[in-house]
Amino acid sequence: MTARLERTRQHLATLGVERMLITTPSNVRWLSGFTAPEDARILINPTEAVLLTDGRYIAQAEEESSLPAVIERDWMGVVRDRAKGGALGVEGDHLTMATARRLEQETGLTLEPHDRVLEPLRIIKDAAEVDIIRRAAQLTDAAYAHVLTQLRPGVREVDLALAIEQYVRTHGGEGMAFDIIVASGPRSAMPHGTASGRTIEAGELVTFDLGAKVDGYCADMTRTVAVGPISTEHRAIFDAVLEAQERAVAAVRPGISGIALDAVARDSLTEAGFGKAFSHSLGHGVGIDIHEAPGLSPKSEDVLEPGMMITIEPGAYLPGDAGVRIEDLVLVTEQGGEVLSSSPKAFTDVLAGT
Ligand code: ZN
Ligand code: ZN
Repeated sequence: MTARLERTRQHLATLGVERMLITTPSNVRWLSGFTAPEDARILINPTEAVLLTDGRYIAQAEEESSLPAVIERDWMGVVRDRAKGGALGVEGDHLTMATARRLEQETGLTLEPHDRVLEPLRIIKDAAEVDIIRRAAQLTDAAYAHVLTQLRPGVREVDLALAIEQYVRTHGGEGMAFDIIVASGPRSAMPHGTASGRTIEAGELVTFDLGAKVDGYCADMTRTVAVGPISTEHRAIFDAVLEAQERAVAAVRPGISGIALDAVARDSLTEAGFGKAFSHSLGHGVGIDIHEAPGLSPKSEDVLEPGMMITIEPGAYLPGDAGVRIEDLVLVTEQGGEVLSSSPKAFTDVLAGT
């Protein structure tokens, strides 16, 4: 945590910012370790960095925050007294205009908005963060193995989603990193089909997209499986997506751009005749937020570096018919990429052999 504050100070110096107010919850958590960051902010002055929160969190702030806490309901008054005039950097991509107006009135400070202030720092995970995300990925694998034992014709998507969430919460997870996707049959063609009341039938593909949240950090994984024999057309989609996913995972290495990595999967799917069916980007960074930098897409400006945590998740969707997505969580290393998701991804018919 001290190292994070030190890096933040150096970064603010390069931006020419002397005083900064951090309000984005994920940034507050990243800098302080405080687990109720929605009700806190951090003020960084040349001589101090303090966590501002209120009387509900006296004990919690004391226990969790690596920064000294100032307990005061009127946090704007604290900013006024401690920043002592002049300019105050704020997070322009988080602070609402209403809060900004009030902050200016209450403090008399001139606000200087900066966007994505801590993003360049959070993009590289330190050893402690990698360790937590590794545990989140392991719990995600375990929850997926658990739900597969319940997948059969006649069960509803929503019941499977509940089984996943119950498993995660009873095995050490804080909850889910995002709404669980369970998309079966024609709904598998919806890339963001969160679990519905639909009953799964034999001969269908089912896509699960899930991630456990552990100690504030997210995991993210997608698998598509068959419930009984599927058509050769649907099998062709599966094979094409798996091939694209494996090629992209093999191409992960420091120095490759988000654009180039996205193109590896996109070209592979185009070769197989499903280029147009791949309607989203290849992947994204993962950390405290489920979607953070870097971006892996045809428009990305990011280049991979060791310590980045990314997803590789190509998909192909034929609306009204079926879809397949396969997603792994991957740590960029000096050597290439280390896949943290260990659930099997080869074609699986969960009814085969029974
Ligand atoms: Zn996902
Ligand atoms: Zn994802």
